[in-house]
Amino acid sequence: MDQPLFGTRGEPGYSVHLYLRKHRCRHRRDDAASTRADLLVSVHPALYSDRARFRVGLFREQKKCLYCDILAGEQADGRRIFWQNANFIALCPFFARYPTEVSIYAKRHLAALPDLSDAEAVDLAEIIKIVRMKYDNLYGSPMPLMMILRQRPSKGEHPYFHFHIDFYPIQRSANKLKYIAGVESGAGTFLNDTVAEEEAEKLRTTEPNELTPADRG
Ligand SMILES: [Zn+2]
Repeated sequence: MDQPLFGTRGEPGYSVHLYLRKHRCRHRRDDAASTRADLLVSVHPALYSDRARFRVGLFREQKKCLYCDILAGEQADGRRIFWQNANFIALCPFFARYPTEVSIYAKRHLAALPDLSDAEAVDLAEIIKIVRMKYDNLYGSPMPLMMILRQRPSKGEHPYFHFHIDFYPIQRSANKLKYIAGVESGAGTFLNDTVAEEEAEKLRTTEPNELTPADRG
């Protein structure tokens, strides 16, 4: 039997996730909701656990970090990377589920926000700001999206974990939304008719590519 990944109750793969959710979506009818924040508790989300099992297995069997491997491949290829600074890289993953999906990877193998150096914290703030501004400029209006920070569990040793951020925008063009429809809901398989290299090129040529003092606040 597999070892529990996090094992708070001993069941394989059992884990508890806390999400701080803040709405920012102009497509919601209730404008008040667009500024509301919620704290959510999620138990054993399937997608997260599947990824975690694969990451742990790869690390146990080959002593490799999945995301260091992906990052090395992306840096060698280059076509899906649209912005980077000294410590972080922004790219459109080849396995994207959403149109114009973006990931930000730490260049160094670190696992969580407390592991950041001062310089890395500044670079992370910069790249998040750049990505968010590019999204908002892509179609000329604020992009409704989900931003997921993925970091190691708070307890135990997790050397396989590589800190990264995923952005899931729900807009597929200037006037169309991405719907989670039958195939996604029924089979758990996402249909995405965009090409990562083309989406990266769109974001590469969308402003800004550097922040002004005013942008930095
Ligand atoms: Zn890594």
